[in-house]
Amino acid sequence: MSYGWKVTVIYILSGIVIGVIGGGQAGLSVAYFLKRSKLNYLILDAESNSGGSWLHTWDSLKLFSPSQYSSLSGWQMPTTKQEYPTKEEYLSYLSNYEKRYNFPIQRSTFVEEVVKEGELFKLKTNQGVFISKTIVSATGTAR
Ligand SMILES: Cc1cc2nc3c(=O)[nH]c(=O)nc-3n(C[C@H](O)[C@H](O)[C@H](O)COP(=O)(O)OP(=O)(O)OC[C@H]3O[C@@H](n4cnc5c(N)ncnc54)[C@H](O)[C@@H]3O)c2cc1C
Repeated sequence: MSYGWKVTVIYILSGIVIGVIGGGQAGLSVAYFLKRSKLNYLILDAESNSGGSWLHTWDSLKLFSPSQYSSLSGWQMPTTKQEYPTKEEYLSYLSNYEKRYNFPIQRSTFVEEVVKEGELFKLKTNQGVFISKTIVSATGTAR
């Protein structure tokens, strides 16, 4: 099988039909509904930790919405000390959200290229090539 790339590892996501690219808020929101639908999926996220682009914002940044309006689906964000959650509080919420639902996330995995071949998508990453039937792009705008 030739992929035209120098391939170190090929992950055939057998039974895994959906590859979600990006594990920020959008990726986690999609994952929540994919989990409920019982579909098999895997999130590939470039970051080494949870939090998406919030990992790279300045420390004094606060959300512009109170916690009750900043929740992802399924789990209300806990009330914060001040009306507007701090970056640290928001990162904590995103991390706990991931743990709560035990989403399958592969971190430190940057998707460099996506190619459709026949019925399948090939995702070339720094960790090898992943193959899935469907993809969701939740890469945000920060990168
Ligand atoms: C300064 C600022 C303040 C904001 N304040 C608020 C607020 O108060 N309240 C609010 O609701 N929203 C706020 N937002 C908007 C929103 O919360 C953020 O933009 C949010 O992080 C968007 O989530 P996301 O999942 O779309 O993208 P991101 O958080 O950027 O997540 C995308 C993820 O995909 C990964 N990724 C990207 N490309 C690849 C790739 N090729 N392969 C693998 N992984 C990849 C990234 O590393 C990242 O982990 C703010 C935005 C900004 C910029």
